[in-house]
Amino acid sequence: MLSEFELIARYFDRPQAPDNVVRLGVGDDCALLAMPPGQMMAVSTDMLVEGRHFFAGTDPDKLGHKALAVNLSDLAAMGAKPMAFTLALALPSADESWLAGFAQGLFALADTEGIRLIGGDTTRGPLNLCITAMGSVPENLSLRRDAAKNGDDLWVSGTLGDARLALEVLQGKSVLPDDVLALAEARLHRPTPRCALGMALRGIARAAIDVSDGLLGDLGHLLARSHLGADIHAASLPAGPALAQQPAQMQIDYMLNGGDDYELCFTAPLEKRDAVLSAAASANTLVTRIGNLKPGAGIRILDATGMTLPFTSNSFDHFGKDM
Ligand code: ADP
Ligand code: MG
Repeated sequence: MLSEFELIARYFDRPQAPDNVVRLGVGDDCALLAMPPGQMMAVSTDMLVEGRHFFAGTDPDKLGHKALAVNLSDLAAMGAKPMAFTLALALPSADESWLAGFAQGLFALADTEGIRLIGGDTTRGPLNLCITAMGSVPENLSLRRDAAKNGDDLWVSGTLGDARLALEVLQGKSVLPDDVLALAEARLHRPTPRCALGMALRGIARAAIDVSDGLLGDLGHLLARSHLGADIHAASLPAGPALAQQPAQMQIDYMLNGGDDYELCFTAPLEKRDAVLSAAASANTLVTRIGNLKPGAGIRILDATGMTLPFTSNSFDHFGKDM
């Protein structure tokens, strides 16, 4: 049986020389980070709980990826460059095949993004994965929720709705051909944090949020902070490749209220349209213009003729009345 310290040493301590940012990593009472001059630290924590955010028995490699990806998505939505992360882990037992799979998924993404695990905490308990990610963003260039302006274009990255489609199948509420399910499951299990896009949008976009609980709900948070409303053109919403093969009503419903998309929803002035497209191209990421910000409050969904479609947000709320 592995001890706590053997477990950390074997799976989570990857000794590396100090660099410009990480002066001291795993192994002391604290890690020590140096901030580049003129930069602010962006910090975000997200927790994944078994039975709540993922099914018991989910492939540990996928969990390692997703636990880090959801945190990096928050940094992306702030325009921050990922620097480092910590990992607080509660495990029912020191299951080495689980740990090896988890570490593989986790470090594959960490290496892709060029960031280091600098510390954490490990305890016995019901499976619970909590990551805190730290990033840097130049002062005055962060993409805050409260920075949108009336008339701004509304944009979304990537595609929406495929993760929700996969979830419906895994919950036994729907069936899909294997090849279509594989497309959708990739979005549920291996979301791509849009870090490159978030950084490329510095100084171009005004406000941003990442779509984790559904477009309507998350955009609603941005609008509330900016004291504005929005019109969305239903026909312009980008459906995921699996969802695009489903009935039209399901498409719009999952794109607006799906959840687990981890795309960026952002606003930018009209005169920045070309700049947004160049930023997206430089980040190798699709972006779509889906509407505009309006005075007042609330989101209107418009069809091709300009009629308002009846949609309300049923964004996920862990303490909502149906939970
Ligand atoms: P402390 O008692 O000071 O909290 P711990 O004994 O919990 O320290 O941890 C020892 C070292 O291992 C610390 O540097 C801590 O950051 C690191 N650590 C613990 N768990 C993890 C983990 N899951 N991933 C990375 N580092 C970890
Ligand atoms: Mg500790």
